[in-house]
Amino acid sequence: MICRPSGHHQLSRVTLAPPLPVCPNREIFTMPDSTTHRQPVLAVACPTCGKPPGAWCSGPSGHRASDLHQGRKAEADRVFIAQHGDTASILRTATGWQIDPRGRIRD
Ligand SMILES: [Zn+2]
Repeated sequence: MICRPSGHHQLSRVTLAPPLPVCPNREIFTMPDSTTHRQPVLAVACPTCGKPPGAWCSGPSGHRASDLHQGRKAEADRVFIAQHGDTASILRTATGWQIDPRGRIRD
């Protein structure tokens, strides 16, 4: 097919929405990436109730727990520190979560 510069015809693929912008630093992170989830603790599986990454904790009755399990928070902490170092902190920003590698030193 010949694509004319006049633009009076369009390939359907160019009308599709462009892919979401990708963070240029993304490749430095390895899974699980704490910033990919709304709540950083959800980036890890729960050792208490066994929920996989991304799923909220469930309580003893099987209903959604009001809070995430303490063990999961500790695990998320451990993974975060293993990934980013024990001086890093995570910040809530307008667009999501941001890793500050020196956050705990500065604060
Ligand atoms: Zn849990």
